[in-house]
Amino acid sequence: MKIQEKLLTVNKYSRPGKKLAEKRALILHWVGVGGQRAKSVWSYFEEACPKEGHYASAQYCVDLDGTAFRFIPDDEVAYHCGSSQADPVSGKIYTDWAREVFGKYASDPAGNSPNNASLGIELCVIDNKGNFSPDTLDTAAELAAFLCKTHQIPLERVGTHKMVVGWKDCPLLWTKQPELFEAFKKEVKKRL
Ligand SMILES: [Zn+2]
Repeated sequence: MKIQEKLLTVNKYSRPGKKLAEKRALILHWVGVGGQRAKSVWSYFEEACPKEGHYASAQYCVDLDGTAFRFIPDDEVAYHCGSSQADPVSGKIYTDWAREVFGKYASDPAGNSPNNASLGIELCVIDNKGNFSPDTLDTAAELAAFLCKTHQIPLERVGTHKMVVGWKDCPLLWTKQPELFEAFKKEVKKRL
């Protein structure tokens, strides 16, 4: 598939340049701001994160027009689903799903993060309710299938950020309507 390469500069806060230990799962996110374009997400990781001392990034971002960008190579760590905060419901840092999928990478307390064993995709949204454009969804399904095939990640290990940490409403739409995430996974399956 066509992917635009727009790599971040190696830096402590968004592209640490560390190699992934494994590729156990593919985790989906929303960018959190309606109308934000991939270019601006890139600038946030590239400029704002180092300036503010904020750890955040993902290997991929899918724009509103359906363009897929690669921000970090597939064999490097991104900061997208690690946590040090316990879920108020379970009292645990990582969910049962995450502990099962990630094993030692999701043990409490969070010394070894799922970031060391996963790839992350950020999805742009058209509004603050987290709705996706049809183009974003279409490319996201294609990209997810491509990454699953490339790295032998099974469909059951395509998850949301919320499925990893529990308390995080990310991506917002799929948190509110899990059936839409199931529909998305069906689209991924069609392309496998
Ligand atoms: Zn997220």
